Amino acid sequence: MTKELTCICCPMGCALTAEMEGGEVISVSGNTCPRGEAYAKTELTAPVRVVTTTMRGQNGKPVPVKTKEPIPKEKIFEVVAQIKAATAPTPVKMGQTLIENAAGTGVEVISTRSLG
Ligand code: SF4
Repeated sequence: MTKELTCICCPMGCALTAEMEGGEVISVSGNTCPRGEAYAKTELTAPVRVVTTTMRGQNGKPVPVKTKEPIPKEKIFEVVAQIKAATAPTPVKMGQTLIENAAGTGVEVISTRSLG
């Protein structure tokens, strides 16, 4: 089975073609660098994303946050719901951990800006 996808690892956005067999990626073409092959393999077998959103701050202002590492795609809604239900202490520092283990993924949610 052939799958077409676009690499999102850098602004070049290479068009990738992956050949799959039995649920495994057996070859990738169209990538300009090795990151494209790694992206295609992950995307087609266990897709992950960094979640970027905002959390309500104690002072009522939104605090920009993100997951420190990519999380499994199927956990995105759960993680966003947890972020939206939480309140960030203020002042908050850039890089401060706001959730230790987002939706059981083992990944932290951190602030991406310092706010007073
Ligand atoms: S394959 Fe490499 S050069 Fe192409 S979009 Fe992905 S990271 Fe960028």
